[in-house]
Amino acid sequence: MTARTYDVVVIGAGIVGAACALESVSAGLKTAIVEATIIGGGATAAGMGHLTVMDDSEGQFALTQYSCKLWRELREQLPRSVEYEGCGTIWVAADDEEMAEVRRKEKYYTERGVAVEVLDGKALSLAEPNLRQGLAGALRVPGDSVIYPPCAAKFFVDRAVALGADLFIGKRVLKAEAGIVTLNDKSIISAGTVVNAAGSWSPLLAKGIDVKKRKGHLLITDRYPQFVRHQLVELGYLKSAHSVTADSVAFNIQPRQTGQMLIGSSRQYGVESSQIDSPIMTRMLERAIEYMPTLKQLSSIRTWTGFRAATPDKLPLIGPHDDDKRLYLATGHEGLGITTSLGTAKLLVDQLTGRESAIPVAPYLPGRIVQETVHA
Ligand SMILES: Cc1cc2nc3c(=O)[nH]c(=O)nc-3n(C[C@H](O)[C@H](O)[C@H](O)COP(=O)(O)OP(=O)(O)OC[C@H]3O[C@@H](n4cnc5c(N)ncnc54)[C@H](O)[C@@H]3O)c2cc1C
Repeated sequence: MTARTYDVVVIGAGIVGAACALESVSAGLKTAIVEATIIGGGATAAGMGHLTVMDDSEGQFALTQYSCKLWRELREQLPRSVEYEGCGTIWVAADDEEMAEVRRKEKYYTERGVAVEVLDGKALSLAEPNLRQGLAGALRVPGDSVIYPPCAAKFFVDRAVALGADLFIGKRVLKAEAGIVTLNDKSIISAGTVVNAAGSWSPLLAKGIDVKKRKGHLLITDRYPQFVRHQLVELGYLKSAHSVTADSVAFNIQPRQTGQMLIGSSRQYGVESSQIDSPIMTRMLERAIEYMPTLKQLSSIRTWTGFRAATPDKLPLIGPHDDDKRLYLATGHEGLGITTSLGTAKLLVDQLTGRESAIPVAPYLPGRIVQETVHA
């Protein structure tokens, strides 16, 4: 039997693989996508859909800023199902120490061309009346947005297929080595380049990569239009989200176009089970109620969990595998893969086609020296 041959075979049709496949076929490369289950069903279905510029490191800032710009450019072409909403983010400061962080972030973002606004306690209360009284203030980032990620992944795949990409759905890749992709039905696809975009499953198909599962919980409420107007995140999140060992929770709430709200978030390492962990869910909701006491009067509809694909330095892996130059990685996006899917796709295809990149690619190359990011 002759193997089908492509320039690029993308493994995984989560938002990252979908964006990579679309960028690849748009660049004129003969492209295939292989997805074991459904489009946008992995972490992409579990995620919150916050498109946000983050400043954990220069590398993170560059990729999130670039990606948010790409999302804004795409906005007019997105179908309604993607629910793009330019609601902005409010980083909530509980006390003076966190207000100092607001000022630091204000300086950092402003120096790098991202519009931000400092709110004092009164302005915060006017912007978000359901927050508890007495909070110190906040930083508003008006350019941040939210989307519904599974429909964005579907939109990217549909577009890629319309441009000539082949989709192999319901086929699991068993092995991908030296440009030969073996599927679970024993068929073989050959490719100039294989892109491993299998999210938290990516280490199963790429030896030696340091990508670990990081579990998260979310809850969605019934419809309460205008209860919350921005994506609200506590600044304490910056302390809790970066612990590389301990379980953590933080107040993070998002308004949806339906009037519902998504409430997060939690982070746990070393957990394989996708079951709801009641003590973690309780801690997460207690934290949310601390910031927004009236939340306890509202009804919830559903809770679920998902797995982020985490690297030690919190930056994704975008580029060739050290030991197999025909295997490229597009994985390890932790809690920012919805945001950075578009930037990832550009940087990946830049490398495949020799195009110049809009931002330096070095921080994301799999062969970089990775240092654990330790935060206060
Ligand atoms: C609770 C939570 C909240 C989050 N909130 C946000 C947020 O607000 N903003 C943000 O930017 N990010 C957020 N994230 C992160 C974001 O969801 C992920 O980074 C992103 O979805 C990763 O996309 P992906 O395509 O790499 O992986 P996935 O969506 O997991 O897709 C991987 C795909 O690969 C397929 N696959 C795996 N193995 C194989 C195989 N052997 N053969 C074929 N196919 C295979 C899977 O079936 C799956 O469809 C959140 C994550 C979680 C868990």
